[in-house]
Amino acid sequence: MNNPSGTAKATQYAWLCAPVLCLLAAELVRSPAEPDYRLAAFVATLQPPAAIGATIPAAPLKSVRAELASSASLVTTQRGTLPIILTAPHGGVVRMMNVPDRTRGVTVLDDRTAELTLLIAQRLTGKLGAKPYFVVAQFSRKHADANRNVAEGTEHPHAAREHAAFHDAVAQAVSECKAKFGRAILIDIHGQSRVTGSIVRGTRNTRTVSQLLARSGQQALIGPDSVCGRLQSAGYDMLPKSDDPEQAIGRETFFDGGYIVATYGGDAATQIDAIQLEFGRMRIDNTMKLARDVGDAIAAFARTHGYAGDATPALPAAGDAASD
Ligand SMILES: [Zn+2]
Repeated sequence: MNNPSGTAKATQYAWLCAPVLCLLAAELVRSPAEPDYRLAAFVATLQPPAAIGATIPAAPLKSVRAELASSASLVTTQRGTLPIILTAPHGGVVRMMNVPDRTRGVTVLDDRTAELTLLIAQRLTGKLGAKPYFVVAQFSRKHADANRNVAEGTEHPHAAREHAAFHDAVAQAVSECKAKFGRAILIDIHGQSRVTGSIVRGTRNTRTVSQLLARSGQQALIGPDSVCGRLQSAGYDMLPKSDDPEQAIGRETFFDGGYIVATYGGDAATQIDAIQLEFGRMRIDNTMKLARDVGDAIAAFARTHGYAGDATPALPAAGDAASD
């Protein structure tokens, strides 16, 4: 017989309801001084599973504003505990429903840069024992380009909403960092196929890092403990070169910094610092090695130039034992 009897059904329902009733009873009798975590955990079990591209809560459940952007957006975010913000506007592959492809501008994906950014964040967390912020577009560049202004980067209202969700999250990260730390470094992550073995720095010829240079000098951009200097020491071909100030400063001739670094970095109203890094295709192909090396470079910079907070590494960094 496939259908259980009425009595058996009632027994099943009673078993299903019992834990819920126990939780509710516990809530009714709990001390007022106790934290709300049980109720929060109970409520959390009633939530539907997160959609693809929904924000990742970075704080415990009792935080009501754990996410940086609308949970309905195709933007993945993490609230950090360090004044380091990673952005990736061009790595998304999700097409929005009922939105046609853009007819103007560049629509090519920066392949695997969303994945690269999450791995860099993981490496940084292992190295510094605290989390960077990140804002990663999961929506396709064919629909919205977050590294352009909204008029140039979108042609449909739904795409404009995703563009806004991305920038709302970045703006919130910037404002939290400014309030908590008084500073922030934003690293904007891209891929390129023009010089496939190289990494191209974009700071609009230092304009988007003017606060950093005023505080710490050129060494913070091109010295041995700068992000670019560390990557060059690790064997990457940096453009411009980072070991010769004559060559390294004011010599950005292409990929010299787009809308994101110009909007948030340097003399912009936010007054944080922002560096665009365009990773050559050959480098991104070895995603794990690149993520490890970039994470280590940012960690070295953070420790030397005051972006590491009070954090000390508690665990071996992710990927330390990797052999790629
Ligand atoms: Zn890009």
